[in-house]
Amino acid sequence: MEHLTVTAAQQCVLASIKSLGKESVRLEHTLGRVLAEDIRANRDQPPYDVSAMDGFALRSADVASAPAMLEIIEDIKAGDMPQKSVQAGQCARIMTGAPVPQGADAVIRVEDTQALSDTRVQINVAVKSRNDIRDRGESMKHGEVVLPAGTEITPGAVGMLAMVKRASAEVYRMPRVAILSTGDELEGLNDPFDANKIPDANSYALMAQVQALGITPDLLGIARDEPAHLKEMLQRGLQYDVLLVSGGTSVGVHDYVRPTLEALGVQMKFWRVEMKPGHPMAFGTTANTFVFGLPGNPVSSMVCFEQFVLPALRRMAGFTRVHRRTVTAKLARDVKHKHSRTEFVRVLLGKEDDVLVATPTGDQGSGILHSMALAEGLLVIPSVSKGIAAGEQVTVQLLDGAEYQNEAGGDF
Ligand code: AMP
Ligand code: MG
Repeated sequence: MEHLTVTAAQQCVLASIKSLGKESVRLEHTLGRVLAEDIRANRDQPPYDVSAMDGFALRSADVASAPAMLEIIEDIKAGDMPQKSVQAGQCARIMTGAPVPQGADAVIRVEDTQALSDTRVQINVAVKSRNDIRDRGESMKHGEVVLPAGTEITPGAVGMLAMVKRASAEVYRMPRVAILSTGDELEGLNDPFDANKIPDANSYALMAQVQALGITPDLLGIARDEPAHLKEMLQRGLQYDVLLVSGGTSVGVHDYVRPTLEALGVQMKFWRVEMKPGHPMAFGTTANTFVFGLPGNPVSSMVCFEQFVLPALRRMAGFTRVHRRTVTAKLARDVKHKHSRTEFVRVLLGKEDDVLVATPTGDQGSGILHSMALAEGLLVIPSVSKGIAAGEQVTVQLLDGAEYQNEAGGDF
């Protein structure tokens, strides 16, 4: 407990968290959610053999020694049903997606033909049986699972849901999240300006981190460093699935968060993690609520959110991929590492000769929120490292926004 690594703490958090229950949501609101049911096809698609081309449906035997002359017996558009059966020496003009008529076993594209009149066409090349015909059920077969439970709903998945006419779907419920800041020195966003106070940045930075996951949290405000007031505020927070409290989790005489949580029945699992920034970092549970005691320093609070809260919230929402994507990059300049804690250095990412390069965003003090505002990633320095030299390979966790770049990435 005294020397808990980041990985061990993460495992401790994830071991106590399962996905929440299911709920039915309308198709318009499914993007970014996780399916809690298998979605099955409600029809064969296409519903019959259809033409893959604009051209002519014919009998392949008739054109085996092309060129050949055929009689056109009807026009079949997408949405039409064929009225006639194609006999020897005959064909039907057919559009992409239209049903292939009885008697025909192949389609030839219009480019390989020459119109002679409205009712006669010359076929210039031979085609094999089934040429340019899409088989009934080729895209999906009635009853087959097209999206399994656990699928993250992307725009493509929304399209699939519409394809099988699902106006609503069962997805995992999103956690309800409360955010509470603590500290007598804090000044709320709408409080009058006082040069001696510290603006409450954490409520809003955490709010935004939660929002980026598609969840709208409730801000409970600022609790004073006074046990009765803190208790009342924490009690409100314990009504939620997840309570994020920042500040007051260290061991100072006015750090009442931990004892107050314990007095409210929260079972604390840990309250310190061997990491920098973010040393005082607590986690506890009740029957219905997960409580994260985040450090007061704004950068520490955000970094701890990334390591512990983000995977927990994603796990609750049903995701199996709960961690930030990591990439390997080349370090732009030396970074020192003299302690035995895992360190998270805020970096910018760029490319040099197709190699990702990570550059630290200036001063890394845990109170310097600017470093986090600029950052595209968190470079992870392992606890055992003795420092990393420029040019060495490092692991970087990507942050929100890192998935976009200036250039299209090539001349495609
Ligand atoms: P604490 O963990 O309460 O000792 O706070 C550590 C540092 O973070 C102190 O300098 C606090 O003023 C600062 N701090 C705590 N909460 C916040 C907050 N909500 N917004 C900005 N800074 C904070
Ligand atoms: Mg404090």
